[in-house]
Amino acid sequence: MFDYVIIGAGFAGSVLAERLATEMNARVLIVDRRNHIAGNAYDYYNEAGILVHKYGPHIFHTNSEKVFTYLSRFTGWRPYEHRVQASVDGQLLPMPINADTLNKMYGLNLNCLQVEEFLQSVAEPCDNIKTSEDVVVSRVGRELYEKFFRNYTRKQWDLDPSELDAAVTARVPIRTSRDDRYFTDRFQAMPVEGYTRMFEKMLDHPNIHIMLNTDYNDIKDEISFRELVFTGPVDEYFDFCYGKLPYRSLQFEHQTHDREQFQPAAVVNYPNEHAYTRVTEFKYLTGQEHKKTSIVYEYPCAEGDPYYPIPQPQNAELYAKYKAMAEALPDVHFAGRLATYKYYNMDQVVAQSLTLFQKLSGRRPTRSAQSAKTALVAVPSTALDAARIEKSLEQEGSAA
Ligand SMILES: Cc1cc2nc3c(=O)[nH]c(=O)nc-3n(C[C@H](O)[C@H](O)[C@H](O)COP(=O)(O)OP(=O)(O)OC[C@H]3O[C@@H](n4cnc5c(N)ncnc54)[C@H](O)[C@@H]3O)c2cc1C
Repeated sequence: MFDYVIIGAGFAGSVLAERLATEMNARVLIVDRRNHIAGNAYDYYNEAGILVHKYGPHIFHTNSEKVFTYLSRFTGWRPYEHRVQASVDGQLLPMPINADTLNKMYGLNLNCLQVEEFLQSVAEPCDNIKTSEDVVVSRVGRELYEKFFRNYTRKQWDLDPSELDAAVTARVPIRTSRDDRYFTDRFQAMPVEGYTRMFEKMLDHPNIHIMLNTDYNDIKDEISFRELVFTGPVDEYFDFCYGKLPYRSLQFEHQTHDREQFQPAAVVNYPNEHAYTRVTEFKYLTGQEHKKTSIVYEYPCAEGDPYYPIPQPQNAELYAKYKAMAEALPDVHFAGRLATYKYYNMDQVVAQSLTLFQKLSGRRPTRSAQSAKTALVAVPSTALDAARIEKSLEQEGSAA
């Protein structure tokens, strides 16, 4: 009999498996219905020998030293600062919008202060910001909203920004400086041998048994365990009893080209033309040198693997019902992006799992354990409180 059965071998499940096996000597079975570990972060060498991300580009960035230190046990890092350009009016312009974006687009030569004045002159003030449209229009006005945000959001979500929670576009900053990095986190790096290799090292423990190509639903009546950790979709766990939680999906079209470079940036966004939203060229991310290059196109769609929870009030209400059912099960723990119906970045999921581990192990980090770098996250006791996890990550960043 296993101490823990963990459903899902992505960040949520694998971090927990490693912690439980290493720290508590627990016997762990980790199950995934895919034919590989690493969840959506899975990467592999394609037929040309180029390292690509099967489920779209995954860029690691975090403000949490604890998360970064924890993952550093299983990988070295390649420093990498992500940069994105957007194809607008026939030009490639830096995204997020910054001083250079505006100067290039309008043929101006504004300094940072003048950019702020410019933005204030075009912004349309809004007293009660509710939607994604309100967020952007109140900061950069309607023209920039139309050119950079509106159509991209419509493609991505099949919803107008006026129908989406403010949080969606609030994630994308607007800068008055010339900083063209996509992220500004303290730690920005890629695992030097790739994500899958990092997961292999994480799960390389005699107490961890991995079962791939196996759906939980097919084995749930046959396996015995003390406790279960579920990182799949929470509505699926409860047989969709309140109905399906809506997700947006993606189709990925991978291509390899017989030339060294395909485009001038790691990612080019296409807000206004084409059915795809963006094109990623992997060699920028991995630093690999190769005479060919591999890219991926992302086509948003309604059907397919669940990727993005759709942030609308009615969906949050539906999730709250499943959450209440989940909390009523003392021996089943729900962790990760799908089980908590929230778009988390990788570092947030790692933090969430480290937090859950503290709860499961029934102990708080001690001074000696911390210095030995074994207990890594100082955590709130209500382990799965997403808002508190996010806040603690933000605070770490601002304290830096
Ligand atoms: C296109 C895209 C790009 C992204 N880019 C970034 C990025 O640049 N940076 C970043 O930080 N984050 C990024 N993310 C988010 C990142 O993918 C997630 O934070 C992370 O993968 C979440 O890990 P997880 O373990 O919760 O879920 P997942 O990685 O989805 O793992 C869950 C696993 O559970 C398995 N599973 C589900 N149900 C069952 C079942 N019934 N039986 C057996 N197995 C089951 C699934 O097969 C899956 O492997 C991106 C996400 C997407 C979709």
